[in-house]
Amino acid sequence: ERPATIPAMFAELVRRFPDRPAVVEGRRFSYRELDATVSSIAAGLEAHGVKAGDRVALFLANRWEFLAGVLACLRLGALAVPIGTRQRATELEFLINDCSASVILFEADLAGSLPLAADIPTIRHRFSVGGPVPGAQGFETLLGRSEAVPVAPATEEDAAVILYTSGTTGRPKGALLTHLGMIHSALTFARCYHLTEQDRCIVAVPLSHVTGLVGVSLATMVVGGCVVLMRHAYKTPDFLELASRERITYSILVPTIYTLCATYPELDRYDLSSWRIGCFGGAPMPVPTIEKLAQKIPHLLLLNAYGATETTSPATVMPQRCWRDNMDSVGQVAPCCEIEVRDEAGALVAPEVPGELWIAGPNVVPGYLNRPDANASEFVDGFWRSGDIGSVDAEGFVRIFDRRKDMLNRGGYKVYSAEVENILSGLEGVLECAIIGLPDPVLGERIHAIVVPRDNAVLTQDMVREHCTLYMADYKVPETVALRSEPLPRNANGKIQKAVLRDESRGTEP
Ligand code: ATP
Repeated sequence: ERPATIPAMFAELVRRFPDRPAVVEGRRFSYRELDATVSSIAAGLEAHGVKAGDRVALFLANRWEFLAGVLACLRLGALAVPIGTRQRATELEFLINDCSASVILFEADLAGSLPLAADIPTIRHRFSVGGPVPGAQGFETLLGRSEAVPVAPATEEDAAVILYTSGTTGRPKGALLTHLGMIHSALTFARCYHLTEQDRCIVAVPLSHVTGLVGVSLATMVVGGCVVLMRHAYKTPDFLELASRERITYSILVPTIYTLCATYPELDRYDLSSWRIGCFGGAPMPVPTIEKLAQKIPHLLLLNAYGATETTSPATVMPQRCWRDNMDSVGQVAPCCEIEVRDEAGALVAPEVPGELWIAGPNVVPGYLNRPDANASEFVDGFWRSGDIGSVDAEGFVRIFDRRKDMLNRGGYKVYSAEVENILSGLEGVLECAIIGLPDPVLGERIHAIVVPRDNAVLTQDMVREHCTLYMADYKVPETVALRSEPLPRNANGKIQKAVLRDESRGTEP
């Protein structure tokens, strides 16, 4: 019996669609060419000692080497560990040590963000991509090998990719994505949107997130379609130019990108006639964006999908036929998945009553690496507790209202208050602090820090932001800082009352 693994799926695609375009990024690869490149990288990694079960970190922008590198790891049975390029050295150090990566492929331009070798002792080989870097080998040394590496035996349940998500404790958790979970998610999108080998997706969200890697790229590849990667940081004219030039048909983007497109004054200049599916997720979508886009690109179907890293992309998808009647919903439960709505005590609530969404299915990850604590509290009765508050109606349409977790959603990037607060507490002169989200018309939410200085401490807003910039990815750095002389408001249990702070902070300008 042949297991449903990513290498088995890829081999079949190469057999069925050898000459169809597979990846576009600077250069173009057919499935046959991509296969040869993946095979060569796998042989190169193997020659450097990578074997089944090893972890390979990919600290790379959306470039072809990223996708080919992930596929090469899976061919060897090694686990690929994508890391977002906005992470800083201290964050990388934690992730690399947590997963004990033995190899890192990194963006040459970001060599300055790498931790010192002594701080990441498990790394044996470093490969720079995009240019030479002292102390590292060039990615090219992995290419040009013709010996075929046999595909390592794997089962559907084996973990293939480790994707880090943050958490309420502020310590990132490595979700173990399985072959089955990734294939299930890819097929869910492909089936729901009727994707075929004619489809061309654009990847403008990071490949280091589950949406970019699985929801967009893998979902397009699973039917033999073409993946168009946008390597450089998102800019609306660059995005529209690429989408138009490459005749893209399919995207999943965060609402912020759709808002930026809808309000871009020169949108009409671009031929977007091929773009038929505009899926969105990761954060709530502002209704004016949908209305504007429906008017400006009337043939584009705007379809909500809800999910998380822990659900390997979609837990719900919006069926094409009924999206206009269900604008307030994130869609219906994905095939073979189940969503239960439970109260604080874990008991099922009555239909249509809001509660926490508990999600089960072949796409839900089996747990996190090295985190028995979080595995015990978040994975219960075969379900993953999402921390999102929502409801499910009689037709299976899911609505999301709120969240239980203390997380901010900055244009789709998740920022856990605890992580920023922990780092901020390390700044001399800080007595206590709280991170809250304030409404933002484009990002949905922006980050606001409230800091109470110690008596006689010299602390300025700039000092607070500089400290954050040093130790955390840029999207986590508070846009605004308020220094406060009174203690933070707390409830009877001593918990900071963030709702009170949010009310007090309304109107704070960036
Ligand atoms: P990615 O990491 O690729 O951006 P993601 O945003 O779906 O994917 P996470 O970063 O793990 O994954 O964040 C998941 C959380 O994002 C959910 O628990 C929920 O709070 C929020 N979310 C995801 N999709 C939606 C949606 N369609 N509408 C509202 N909130 C959403």
